[in-house]
Amino acid sequence: MIEDRLAELEPVSRTLEESPDERRALNARVLAWADGFLDALAERPVWSREDGARDELLALGIPEAPVELERLLGLVTREIDGPGLQPASGGHLGYIAGGGIYPGALGDYIAAVTNRYSGVHYAGPGAVHLENLLLRWLCRLAGFPSTALGTLTSGGSIATLVAVVAARDAKDVRAREVERSVIYATGQAHHCVAKSIRIAGLGEAPLRTVAMDAHYRMDVAALREQVRADRAAGLRPFLLVATAGTTDTGALDPLDELAELAAEEGLWFHVDAAYGGAFLLLEDMRPRFRGIERADSVVIDPHKGLFLPYGTGAVLVRDPEHLRASHGLRGVYLQDATDALDEPSPADLSPELTRHFRGLRMWLPLQLHGLARYRAALEEKLLLARLFHARARELGLEVGPAPDLSVALFRHVPRDGSDPTEANKRLLQAILDDGRVFLSTTTIDGVFWIRVAVLCFRTHKDRIDAVLEVLARELAD
Ligand SMILES: *Cc1c(COP(=O)(O)O)cnc(C)c1O
Repeated sequence: MIEDRLAELEPVSRTLEESPDERRALNARVLAWADGFLDALAERPVWSREDGARDELLALGIPEAPVELERLLGLVTREIDGPGLQPASGGHLGYIAGGGIYPGALGDYIAAVTNRYSGVHYAGPGAVHLENLLLRWLCRLAGFPSTALGTLTSGGSIATLVAVVAARDAKDVRAREVERSVIYATGQAHHCVAKSIRIAGLGEAPLRTVAMDAHYRMDVAALREQVRADRAAGLRPFLLVATAGTTDTGALDPLDELAELAAEEGLWFHVDAAYGGAFLLLEDMRPRFRGIERADSVVIDPHKGLFLPYGTGAVLVRDPEHLRASHGLRGVYLQDATDALDEPSPADLSPELTRHFRGLRMWLPLQLHGLARYRAALEEKLLLARLFHARARELGLEVGPAPDLSVALFRHVPRDGSDPTEANKRLLQAILDDGRVFLSTTTIDGVFWIRVAVLCFRTHKDRIDAVLEVLARELAD
């Protein structure tokens, strides 16, 4: 009975494995699709208002029988690749652009084909070793001691959550202490910080919005005052979140002074360098980050400044025992997996067990290109933002502070006294309609700004010239 049924099932089940010829045919088509995408990318508009018809996707549903790859690639082209923002484009100067550097895709391909397990050292020692090697390299970049470690995550938000949980547990913030346990950040801290605080069960902890200076950097004197006032009120300050490269303006908080204050006050010092961290590769920029080496935890997003495809963040922790204290639980079914302590497993240092082997997509591009090219690209991004800032001012626009990193703010203030926000929304629309660049906006202290955020590895001077050209034309009208 069972044998009969198995005899029926096996031939069907075996078709889940393509024959070598079938596999080669699929590969050739997908590669041709990817080549077509990349060859046309530079000329394509960065932004499309198309909605994505969705009808075709819905009509297809999830079928019982196989569907031809050709039809599916057509659907991807029309309904997924067309609509919205083209984030791989060098014209993506909105938000904080990522990358999509090509060897990252090849690393993912190998990781997926082999389905290499990277959660526990026992099962995937090479994979765990590779990820730990990358993390130790990032730790060195941050100036951490050689004993520091961390974990690769899906992005900066989850990396921040892991850091906040580490801070909570390291400072022994129990449930009954939450209402008295104070957290400090500026209004320019990324919203994933507040989100992490809430997810970590710290939603009732007082979150102080520390004042900033004219460069949107944390005001250390104001922080010192606030901590004193909180202590005097019988509260328990425990966590300071600084940002090394804010998303809105690229501002670097004064890390050295903040590290000092955190040490004096016994605060966990977290530095969010999700965006800015990659600039540590530039020798000239390192003094601007001084103090990061005294942090307890640092977040860096390789899918931003290391130009990787989306899906790679990193949290680094000075003393990884804090990660183990928060996450080091194992099911009995893992009893065979006894690990060497000098090569900790991601599963013991993060919430994940079975996970994407992210290391390969990060390692392959770094090896194939080498760091010198990364340094050139990162310096280029800094200079492009500076160039834009100078030229925008020459055009008579109001500009934000001189960029600490690669984000510049500007806005048009109409001379006739009409509403500047409306004028800048029209200006943004003209830029989006042009199609060569995508910009985004923000509001700081009630002022509406347009941002130019340069970070995509494909962004070069021609894109900055394109923004300036549209601005000059619009302002002349
Ligand atoms: C992008 C960003 C984050 C969030 O990271 P995700 O990878 O988008 O989850 C956090 N902090 C800063 C400063 C960022 O720029």
